[in-house]
Amino acid sequence: MTKESPMNVDHEARLLAKVPDGLFIGGRWRPATDGTRFDVHDPATGKGVKEVADATVADGTAALDAACDAFPVWAAAPARVRAEILRRAFDLVQERAEELALLMTIEMGKPLAEARGEVAYGGEFLRWFSEEAVRVQGRYGPNPAGTGRMVVTHHPVGPCFLITPWNFPLAMVTRKVAPALAAGCTVVIKPAALTPLTTLAMVQILHEAGVPDGVVNVVTTTRTGVVSEAIIRDPRLRKLSFTGSTPVGQKLLAQAATGVLRTSMELGGNAPFVVFDDADLDRAVDGAIAAKFRNIGQACTAANRIIVHRSIVDEFTHRVTERVGAFRTGRGTEHGVTIGPLIDERAVVRTGELVDDAVGRGATVRAGGGAVDGPGAFFAATVLSDVQPGSAILREEIFGPVLAIVPFDDEDEAVRIANDTEYGLVSYVYTENLARGQRMVERLETGMMGLNVGVVSDASAPFGGWKLSGLGREGGTEGIHEYLQTKYTLTPDPFV
Ligand code: NAD
Repeated sequence: MTKESPMNVDHEARLLAKVPDGLFIGGRWRPATDGTRFDVHDPATGKGVKEVADATVADGTAALDAACDAFPVWAAAPARVRAEILRRAFDLVQERAEELALLMTIEMGKPLAEARGEVAYGGEFLRWFSEEAVRVQGRYGPNPAGTGRMVVTHHPVGPCFLITPWNFPLAMVTRKVAPALAAGCTVVIKPAALTPLTTLAMVQILHEAGVPDGVVNVVTTTRTGVVSEAIIRDPRLRKLSFTGSTPVGQKLLAQAATGVLRTSMELGGNAPFVVFDDADLDRAVDGAIAAKFRNIGQACTAANRIIVHRSIVDEFTHRVTERVGAFRTGRGTEHGVTIGPLIDERAVVRTGELVDDAVGRGATVRAGGGAVDGPGAFFAATVLSDVQPGSAILREEIFGPVLAIVPFDDEDEAVRIANDTEYGLVSYVYTENLARGQRMVERLETGMMGLNVGVVSDASAPFGGWKLSGLGREGGTEGIHEYLQTKYTLTPDPFV
């Protein structure tokens, strides 16, 4: 790993200095009520890069107060006004794309090229929902008995609480904030304590774009459980949108039951990546590399189990191993780096345990296999072949750069292995046989599927999972309806 040049260090210091470090409540930046702060780290060096305010329960409640106060005016604002603010925010994200990308790389570790990709993807939610804001339509028509007229209208659900994870610090925020604002809702955002800086920079952009005071509020905190629970159990809250792990999502769903909140849950995944013997192997290898190693394997959509037909498994394994051998590991700001650090040391240990368990049960290490010497939380890009049934790596979400290959003999077996998980977020299938592809679309139990494609995320598509992967959809025409509630009104037949 090369050393950073002093020029880059200065550039990063200036960028970090510009990022606000307070809580954003009612249109103002302020410290935590008890004055506490916490450190944000660069996972590539382990060093602290900036301190931010550590919100208390009282701060969380103050943020909800602000969201509740702002709600009636924002809900009543013309959709065009809301749309144009979101569009301005989109333009500002484009202008500041380089800064946002670098900030994400510093606090989260992904290679700069991928961080730029996330800015493009995440920014797109602002544009998409600026366009959707003005297209919320209802229905009007006679009831079947002909005795009246039915009117169906849609209304913003109210103040929302948005909890986001560390792995996509920008896109997970815009994917929630943009539809919420487009629908006329106000929000309190709680970003992951590991990566709050990108959210703070994004909120500054929303403020500059003209979002009125109190419509967007942010609480950064390490007192996650208590601050969140107080907000979730507050009777004024109407919606909880969460992206994170399934166990935390389950806990929050129980809390949300108190207020019978609308909930959107984007939870964990365990994506199967199935390669048939009739697949275009070049495409399949490219797809597997993208689906597995994007974000250093730390994506809910990451291919967790690479399920390959036995007749081509040796060739496939050879080709992916060759590709992985050409990867470069290092700090994401360095030129040509493809594998950045994991988010922290705990993630390195956990990934190592999964690899060791698989090897102990008979898997073969083709590349990598363990942690890379620090400083920083690095794990070598790893390829495991012949991963045996019963290995933890096939059951659990890996969240690291480990590609685990399992052979299969026929289509039914591939389907059985692919569906043998409590998760159901996304699946990937490679085949040149159209009918087989269609059968797989119908047989795989996932909310999304890539057919001969390794990355499916798109602001204009409904993102979300089946089974323990979640509830609701983000993006697409569906996304705004997560923040709208329906009213049906009956009127008498106007001719009687
Ligand atoms: P996490 O569940 O640990 O944390 C997610 C968020 O929840 C963070 O903001 C965290 O501070 C907060 N949180 C943790 N405990 C909480 C509690 N008791 N009460 C309230 N909030 C709490 O997940 P993570 O490690 O940040 O993110 C990785 C997980 O997110 C993976 O499982 C991944 O699959 C999932 N994810 C899913 C999607 C999707 O769209 N389905 C997208 C990205 C990530």
